[in-house]
Amino acid sequence: MAKADALNSVVNLAKRRGLVFPSSEIYGGFRSTWDYGPVGVLLKRNVKEAWWRTMVQLRDDMVGLDAAILMAPKVWEASGHIATFTDPLVDCKSCNERFRADQLPASGACPNCGAKGSFTEARQFNLMFKTFVGPVEDDASVAYLRPETAQGIFVNFKNVQTTMRRKPPFGIAQIGKSFRNEITPGNFTYRTREFEQMEMEYFVPPGEGERWFEYWCNERFRWYTEYGIPESMLRLRPHDPEELSHYSAGTADVEFQYPWGWGELEGIANRTDYDLTQHAKFSGEDLTYYDQESGTHYVPHVIEPAAGADRATLAFLLAAYDEDEVRGEKRTVLRLDKRLAPYKAAVLPLSRNEKLSPTARDVATMLRPHFQIDYDDASSIGKRYRRQDEVGTPFCVTVDFDSLDDNAVTVRERDTMEQDRVPIPDLVAYLRERLASS
Ligand code: ATP
Repeated sequence: MAKADALNSVVNLAKRRGLVFPSSEIYGGFRSTWDYGPVGVLLKRNVKEAWWRTMVQLRDDMVGLDAAILMAPKVWEASGHIATFTDPLVDCKSCNERFRADQLPASGACPNCGAKGSFTEARQFNLMFKTFVGPVEDDASVAYLRPETAQGIFVNFKNVQTTMRRKPPFGIAQIGKSFRNEITPGNFTYRTREFEQMEMEYFVPPGEGERWFEYWCNERFRWYTEYGIPESMLRLRPHDPEELSHYSAGTADVEFQYPWGWGELEGIANRTDYDLTQHAKFSGEDLTYYDQESGTHYVPHVIEPAAGADRATLAFLLAAYDEDEVRGEKRTVLRLDKRLAPYKAAVLPLSRNEKLSPTARDVATMLRPHFQIDYDDASSIGKRYRRQDEVGTPFCVTVDFDSLDDNAVTVRERDTMEQDRVPIPDLVAYLRERLASS
């Protein structure tokens, strides 16, 4: 499929099958904001769950956190966001559209009206959303919606380290919403003003930063492949020295081959002791770690793998999207990893029928405590298979007239379309085993 069509196909599928809707659609939509529908919310939850499982559950050096979105404004002074979290903004003098100066085409032509070389001087535009806390809208009540979850972790470093009795190297992981007043959002859910991040700050003794930076670059690259993105669609791109953020001693992006080209999926940064040093300075708190073995205090260095839940979800969708042909008919199928699939199984009575429906409903009720399932008895069985293929459901369980005699169902697998006859009492164990195998 042509690359440009791939995004359209996924956007259309997302709308048609309840994955992602344009936000506020009945009012004509709202500036590149998107809502996850009933199927999309399941997919995105599975992506976040997969991240949490790898980063927290399976490790003995990690704990979780859920910090508030609104924080003391001083946090953003200390972190450098008030002074430097800016993008260079230019206006086209001809059509008045606004662009990021660093994203203009080399031709110098306006991407909107085509006028050449008619941009204003670049001015720095701060990306943080400002609001007021409490009833009075004055300078003293200004607060910001967090532009990253990381700072919630840094300001809790001492709380977490002491209550959980942790010794570097250890990490704190967090998933949550962040907000950036992006100048040019776009490419579906790739760049939005409200998005969800999956970030982890890994605190290490000074001198071990480089080693752990390498480690996390490899780990995070591997994670995307483990969950089904082919290596050929991924690359690790180290930042050039002039590209580095003010706090970073080294950054590499895990990039994905989006239909419009390579783009960031996740950034891994060696933030050194910058953040804890800044917060110690601005808060007056001692944020050093006391190392009993050496009897010394030190400020831990930090390695940060910062991923986006929305970008990851989009990448998994794009990588999974496929079209093949079944008996002369085009079939759209999401070849999602089974762990990410919104529904693990769908229960489908062969037809809507007073004999089949009660048995099919009983099968669904039996499966529900174990798996997220769908139940569908509308339209022909062929159409229902297609609908499940389109959202990546690994198994379709069909209840037919024989089921009433042999107490068994037909299980059809998404990718091979092979069918097995399985006794209903064995179905939970059967699905569990097949869902666990790759
Ligand atoms: P970009 O260069 O694409 O603007 P960034 O380098 O500013 O991204 P980070 O600050 O490293 O992004 O944020 C970490 C992750 O958060 C990104 O890799 C991405 O997955 C996600 N993210 C950042 N900004 C957005 C956004 N506007 N919309 C959706 N996801 C985002």
